[in-house]
Amino acid sequence: MPPKRPITLGDIIEVYCSKCRLNLDASVAAIIDGEVVKVMCRTCGNEVPNKPPVDPKLKKEKAMERLMKMRAKKSEGPKYVAPSPESPAVAVRKLWDDLTATADPRRAKVYDRHRTYAVNDVVLHKQFGMGVVHAKDQDDELNVLFRDGFQRIESNQPVDE
Ligand SMILES: [Zn+2]
Repeated sequence: MPPKRPITLGDIIEVYCSKCRLNLDASVAAIIDGEVVKVMCRTCGNEVPNKPPVDPKLKKEKAMERLMKMRAKKSEGPKYVAPSPESPAVAVRKLWDDLTATADPRRAKVYDRHRTYAVNDVVLHKQFGMGVVHAKDQDDELNVLFRDGFQRIESNQPVDE
């Protein structure tokens, strides 16, 4: 543990980012009476309220609960189908929510087309944000689930191109 000193603006602390919905490093953006009230997420760049990191186990359980509820709803039959059926985009977004809710941000890899990735790897993409590798074909093309849907991106490309 580093020696204790008063926290100052710009210090990097671990918080729960309400935008990324993950425990991430953030820099202190506002302090009132020695309490950090606002931080800037280093992943999404948004200013968010300072929330302590969330216990990943607890989050996982909650996500599981949500999944179970979704499944239970489905098996209840047609009479319980919501009046306005979900669009595929909403369903994909929910899947993304659930996958990234249980993802460990320490395992997230910054996307680089030269790197190799495995199925279920969490990647951080400059344009698409955080995603989870859904599939990988023989050419190392990845099908990644991002917040706004699936994207096919290349990986393991030779460096000397
Ligand atoms: Zn964030």
